[in-house]
Amino acid sequence: MAIRKIVKRGNDALKKQCRPVDAFNKRLETLLGDLADTMYDAGGVGLAAPQVGILRRAVVVDVGDGLYELVNPVITERDGEQTDFEGCLSCPGVVGMETRPYRVTVQAQDRAGETFTVTAEGYLARAVCHELDHLDGRTIYESAERILTQEEFDKLLEQQKDAETDGE
Ligand code: ZN
Repeated sequence: MAIRKIVKRGNDALKKQCRPVDAFNKRLETLLGDLADTMYDAGGVGLAAPQVGILRRAVVVDVGDGLYELVNPVITERDGEQTDFEGCLSCPGVVGMETRPYRVTVQAQDRAGETFTVTAEGYLARAVCHELDHLDGRTIYESAERILTQEEFDKLLEQQKDAETDGE
């Protein structure tokens, strides 16, 4: 497997509607392996095929409790709400404040084409929604309620920490 180059904001691949994966072959296996390698190398929790310039509906997600490979994923149920900041490997230097469902059920195919269902909650649900947005040409710039630079975000975290300390 190999580490691929992550395309950054401004690249056309991030604005396109991705096509379904229709061939479950060696090439897909290589793509999924490379997506995982590239995500881990970059220290991310998810990566979508268009982020390496491949306009196909495939993503990988790992928030620390195992790798999910989702091919042709579709959200079939959504529940609740959560609002938090999230970063994107294709949008370095900024974070976006996003409201996402608290829980999602996703139907997808695995690398062999077998259909399965996974229910994700909390951070995993957030990561899955973020990656699925990429398949429809959306980044945090299109979907976030608010975009902060990393510097502004660090300052905000610092203020929150101070506020917590004051309360002790
Ligand atoms: Zn992203």
